[in-house]
Amino acid sequence: MDHLLLRTLIAVALFAAAAVLIGLSFGATAGWVSFSVGVLLLLFHHIRHVDRLVRWLQNPTPGRVPDGRGAWDHVFAVLHRYERLQTRQHQQLARTLARFRQAGRAHPDGVVILDADNRIEWCNDTAESHLDLNIETDAGQPVTNLVRQPEFVAYVESRDYAHPVELRAPRGAGVVLSVQIIPYGDAQKLLLSRDITRLEKLETMRRDFIANVSHELRTPLTVLSGFLETIKELKLDPKRSRDYLNLMAEQSKRMERIVDDLLTLSTLESAPGPSLDERVRVAPLLDRLRAEAEALSGGKHKVVLDAEAGFDLLGAENEIASAFGNLMSNAIRYTPAGGEVRLTWRASANEAEFAVQDTGIGIAPEHIPRLTERFYRVDRGRSRETGGTGLGLAIVKHILTRHQATLDIASEPGKGSRFAARFPARRVVPVTTIPEGAAGPRASTLRSAS
Ligand code: ADP
Repeated sequence: MDHLLLRTLIAVALFAAAAVLIGLSFGATAGWVSFSVGVLLLLFHHIRHVDRLVRWLQNPTPGRVPDGRGAWDHVFAVLHRYERLQTRQHQQLARTLARFRQAGRAHPDGVVILDADNRIEWCNDTAESHLDLNIETDAGQPVTNLVRQPEFVAYVESRDYAHPVELRAPRGAGVVLSVQIIPYGDAQKLLLSRDITRLEKLETMRRDFIANVSHELRTPLTVLSGFLETIKELKLDPKRSRDYLNLMAEQSKRMERIVDDLLTLSTLESAPGPSLDERVRVAPLLDRLRAEAEALSGGKHKVVLDAEAGFDLLGAENEIASAFGNLMSNAIRYTPAGGEVRLTWRASANEAEFAVQDTGIGIAPEHIPRLTERFYRVDRGRSRETGGTGLGLAIVKHILTRHQATLDIASEPGKGSRFAARFPARRVVPVTTIPEGAAGPRASTLRSAS
């Protein structure tokens, strides 16, 4: 502004000098008139620029700062620079804000920003779906009007946000959320929601599993300790003692089988995925399986092997042998004497299927989806009688999943069952691809058919 003042004073001084010269030449009146006209023109010039300035200030459109003449040229140039700086800072701020919002949106957890009165200021898409919110319509509303679960309302009102609270999601059956409020800034709050359904399920499974294992082991243990007490307390004749000892041996065998199966499952869980380099020679494996089936049956069943030649499997031989062995032993165990157990192997370049079909007791449809759960049995007594642990099919399912294979079960009570393991193309290989002997050593059996 100094610049403007200086230039105005210089202009007035020049007008005054010119007026003096005109006064000396044409008389005082002419001098005064010309001075007044000069000052009026200067005034008009300033008023015009002030008017432009005021009009721009009323609607300061970026990039539209007016042009000025004379001293005003400098004034508007300064204004222009200032306005450009402002626009740049504004754009930078807007970009930063947009990036923050994008980050908030991309966050896998739900994020809600609440003001001091717990009104919703902003939330991301995950929070919308977790808490059934809609930012378009719900912005400015108290969060407790929209998320009404009593435990959540109590949590918000408690003002104690040291720990999260667990709630069922308003929408989405069975979804469990962990919600925590984090106060920040000027009495504002960040509400975070996390989907912990899977964790909850795992926790329930862990609890059930421990309860099941304890129960499964407690029964034979109770029997064992009962017999021990009897032998200790009573004087038994040698035959009775031998009978008791045999029964005790049976119970401890049962516990051993349960522990072995649990160890097998835990080995499978921690082992790396089966490789695609190891060839499982299916033909000899099936021959061994048939021999095992006949031994297990003790001549009480007709065992049939119906195998196509030409394709082998890629994977862990001990695991495949264990899975096939379990399916076979189940068929023998759940098929009354005189029935038939058929082992089939069908393979092409696209897929391979190993199936065990029996003419046994069959399974009612409601049990089929649960058969691969640990310790699930249709008939506990029958499973126990035949030496079952309730873990065989869980092991089979685990092994097949590790080989990207599926287990299909079809059954009809009283008629029989068919258990089929289906392998995808990547696990199937023509018998001739790898030369004999290049398949590596034969692995030990993981869980033998019992
Ligand atoms: P288990 O050791 O009790 O046999 P599994 O996990 O191998 O345990 O099988 C689970 C249950 O599935 C068995 O208890 C039995 O009720 C049923 N099952 C399995 N295979 C057959 C089959 N071939 N025929 C009828 N029921 C079967």
